[in-house]
Amino acid sequence: MCPARIGEYRELPGPKGKEWLERAKRVSITAVQNELLVFDDEAPWLGLTMYDVDGNVYMDFFSGAGVNNLGHAPQDILEAVSRQRAFGPTCYDETVFPVPIAIRLRERLAALAPGDQPRKVFLSNSGTEAVEAAIKMLESARPERGIILAFENAFHGRTKGSLALNGSREVHTAHFLHGRDGVYHIPFPSYRGALDHFFQRIGHGDLPIKEINAAVLEIVQGEGGVNVPDPYELKRFESWLRANDIYIVADEIQTGIGRTGRFFASEYYDLNPDIILVAKALANGSDPCGATIANADLDFDEKGQHANTFGGHYSAMAAAHAVLDRFEQDGSLLRNVNEVGHNLKQRLRGLSQSFNGHFSSTAIRMSEPRGLGLMLAVDLIDESARDEYGTLTAEASAPRDRVVEETWRRGLILEGTGTRGIRFLPPLIVNREQIDIMMKIFEEAIEAAFDINISYTPDGV
Ligand code: PLP
Repeated sequence: MCPARIGEYRELPGPKGKEWLERAKRVSITAVQNELLVFDDEAPWLGLTMYDVDGNVYMDFFSGAGVNNLGHAPQDILEAVSRQRAFGPTCYDETVFPVPIAIRLRERLAALAPGDQPRKVFLSNSGTEAVEAAIKMLESARPERGIILAFENAFHGRTKGSLALNGSREVHTAHFLHGRDGVYHIPFPSYRGALDHFFQRIGHGDLPIKEINAAVLEIVQGEGGVNVPDPYELKRFESWLRANDIYIVADEIQTGIGRTGRFFASEYYDLNPDIILVAKALANGSDPCGATIANADLDFDEKGQHANTFGGHYSAMAAAHAVLDRFEQDGSLLRNVNEVGHNLKQRLRGLSQSFNGHFSSTAIRMSEPRGLGLMLAVDLIDESARDEYGTLTAEASAPRDRVVEETWRRGLILEGTGTRGIRFLPPLIVNREQIDIMMKIFEEAIEAAFDINISYTPDGV
């Protein structure tokens, strides 16, 4: 059988995919979720194009959870990494023995961070490690302030420190946390008044303000549903934090490196966080790489308080420099995120209207799109799936899951977010023609999932 091209239907898993999935099941932890797809790590992925082990072709609208922001196999990143590797040295306990390529990356990240205060940068291998370093800095700077504010639906990672900050799905935290260790969750400021109740409780003295060390927030919540702050509410919160000398930690692990149309999403809200966290797209996935960019006065006091083995890995540094070079040299990149992102949002709005028109007599609904730049999502919900208290149940997300799988069967990689969202996170180099193709496949996937025919009229395009 001929491998399927983008837009063509394929059985999933394919014959080779099936074999690999059976092998994977025997040795991979159960938490691995996908049961349909095995990608081919030896195929010539390029830009938005990917392959599975059966040779089927896919278009990437997920970027490996916001990692491959410059697409797959970008020549400049590949060359930078090969050049570094050709020298020979790879990694030698960089927190103990600093090297120029890592020192220069720290300098560049410190200069890129909003504000002009001096910064110190800790380099790591993942997002969760960047979060852990921030928590330790806060604790060592102000041990007398034992409370950290975090947000409902937040996601900050899987290690125990970041896990305590999560407000996302129960499965992430159940069994693993024995107390929240000073973390206090509050509503995400996604609409005006979202924090009214919190401020009332503070007013009643329910929480000792003098013990609050910091608030840790994703500027746009990624795993929790692509939730965007209301600018007024976020500013109100920021003023309150500043008035009470509470630090702001911006987790830009998913929103950073251009994803939302600014290099850091904090820039949208004129925020100058005390600590900024990046990872994911920092080295475009070429090598694992994360960074904790902190106000210099939050630095540790003593040598040995924090370190790691692989942080500052030389080829990860080379890749990260090449990523930063690209943003510096190619002004059209962020412009593209804003223009194409705007177009995609309009298209999704049109689709949501025609979808809801079609399903007006049923309980299935598609929400308006939300998000910034190329970090967008729509919800797809079965409104009838409710328990006796009227709360939506797990079954409410069944339509979402069906549609995601149908897109995969047509060569489009999208993923869910939160309990009922579908997110659109293409590489930032995506163009309008690719948006056209994506929309066509997405529409066909919806038609297949619900056995209907949507007459989709693009709105405002
Ligand atoms: N913070 C945010 C906002 C994330 O989206 C993620 C991962 O999805 C993390 C932290 C954890 O990053 P990692 O998986 O690299 O540990």
